[in-house]
Amino acid sequence: MKNLYKALKNGCFILPFVFVINALSSNALQIVYPKTENTQISAASTFIIGSTAPDAKLKINDIDVKVHDNGSFVQVVPLNDGKNEIKIDSQNEKTHDTVTYIINRVPQEIPASMQAALEEFAPDEFIYAAVLKNNTPLRAQPDEYAKRLTHLPKDTVLMINGKKGDYYRVSLTPTENAWIKSDCVVNYSTITQKMLATASQVSLSEDRLYNYIKTDLSFQIPFKIIETDNGLRLELYNLDKNAADTMLFQTSGDVKSLTINSVAPDKTSTYYIELKNKLWGYMAYYEGTTLVLKIRKAPVIDKEKPFKNITIFLDAGHGADDAGAIGPTGEKEKNINLDIVKKLQKVLEDEGAKVILSRADDTCVPLYDRVKMMQESDALISLSIHANALADGADPYVKHGTSVFFYNRESVELAKTLRDVITNKLGTKDDGVGMHSLVMTRPTMPLSVLIEVAYMIHPEEYKLLLDENFRQKAAESIRDGVKEYLLNSVKTDGIN
Ligand SMILES: [Zn+2]
Repeated sequence: MKNLYKALKNGCFILPFVFVINALSSNALQIVYPKTENTQISAASTFIIGSTAPDAKLKINDIDVKVHDNGSFVQVVPLNDGKNEIKIDSQNEKTHDTVTYIINRVPQEIPASMQAALEEFAPDEFIYAAVLKNNTPLRAQPDEYAKRLTHLPKDTVLMINGKKGDYYRVSLTPTENAWIKSDCVVNYSTITQKMLATASQVSLSEDRLYNYIKTDLSFQIPFKIIETDNGLRLELYNLDKNAADTMLFQTSGDVKSLTINSVAPDKTSTYYIELKNKLWGYMAYYEGTTLVLKIRKAPVIDKEKPFKNITIFLDAGHGADDAGAIGPTGEKEKNINLDIVKKLQKVLEDEGAKVILSRADDTCVPLYDRVKMMQESDALISLSIHANALADGADPYVKHGTSVFFYNRESVELAKTLRDVITNKLGTKDDGVGMHSLVMTRPTMPLSVLIEVAYMIHPEEYKLLLDENFRQKAAESIRDGVKEYLLNSVKTDGIN
C-alpha cells in the first residue's frame, strides 16, 4: 500500500485512472439496468438505464426518450401487476437495435418473523442466554430492518422472555423489551427469576485522546447509550446494586460531571455524563466484566491550520467485484469513488491532515473490516465517499444531487456543513441530509458520515462524475466542508 501511495505521489498511476473513468461507450445499444432481460420487481416502477449512439432515435414502449450527447439515457417505466413487456428500440442511419425486457411485478414479501405468532413466556420465566459476537444489534421489532436500540458485545448476558419466528424477545426492564436474532445468542437454561448483576466500582481516567468511565460488574449486562444535549446518558439493565450510586465524581479531562442515580425499581442504573465540549465520538466495550465507556476528547484546533494534527479516515465505497452503481455508458461507481478519495487525500494532506484510506486501489475490503480500520485509526472524522443510485420505484429526474448521511446525532452538524459547502461549491442540487443506518454511518467513533457526491443514474450528473475537473472540485469542496466544520466547532467549544 505504501509503494502505491508513493507511486501516486510521483504521478505514475494517475494516467490509467483518467483513462478508466473516461472510457467511451460503444455506439451499439447497451442496457446496464435492469441487469437481466427477465427479472422480478415489487415496486410500482423501474427504470431503463443504458447508452446508444448519441444521434440515435430511442423509443421505450413507443415513447420517445432523450439521448444525451454521450449516448446516455435513463427512463422511468411504470409497472403493472404481473408480466410487463418493455420494448427498447434504437435507430440511426447505420443501425437499428431492438431488445425486449420482461419484468414481473410481484407483491412485496412480509418477513417471516413478522408473520409468526408471538410465544409469550410465563411472567417469571426467562431463558438465560449470552451474545455470541461483538457489535450484535438489539432491535425494536423482530425484523432485520427494524430500528437498532443498542449494540452489545460478545458474552453479554440476556434475559429472554418471548419468541417470534427466528427472533427472541429480550427483557431490559419490566416494561421495555428488545429483539435479537435467535442464532446470535447461545442458550444456557430456563430460569424462574431474572439474574441480576452488581457493580462494585466506577472509576474515571484519561489519556491523551480519550476519557474513560469504567464500571466493574459481576457479569456482563446489556446497556444502552443515548446522546443528550450536553453529553451522554448510559443505561445499565438487570443491575441489582451499584456501589457508586451515592458517590461524587471529580471532573476528569473533558468530563464535566458524572452523576449516577440509585438503581431504579426496574433494575436500571442510569449515568448522566456532562461534557465540557460537544461530543466528538464514544464507544463502549467490555474488558472482562468491566464495562468501559470511552469518550473522545475535543481536538485542539489551530485556527490558521485547522487540519494540523487531525486524522481523517477516507473510505472509497465498494471495490473489486463490488462495482457499486453502474452509469449509463458502463462506468463503475467504485472507480469514481476511488478517484475522488485520492484527490481528497492529496488536498487534505496538502493542508497538514493525516489521512488513512480503507482502500488505495481496486481491492475488496469487507465493510466491517473498514469499520475496524476506521476505529483503530484514532481518526477524528470518517468520510465514506459514494456516487448514488436509486431503487426501483423512484425517479432519478426528480431525486438527484448531493446528499450526506449520518446515523448518530453527534454527526448531524458535520453532515449538514458538508452538504451546505459541497452543494454551494459544486452547484449540485441539494438532495438532503438524512439519517440512514449504514455500516459506515453507524460507528459512534469517529464522527462518521457518508457522502453521495452525485448520481450515477442521472445523465447530466453522470457526465459530471466522468469529468476529472468535477472530481477535483468535489474533493476540494469536501475538504472545505470539513474545514468549516472544524473552524465552527472552535467557536462553539471555545477552545484556543
Ligand atoms: Zn455506493
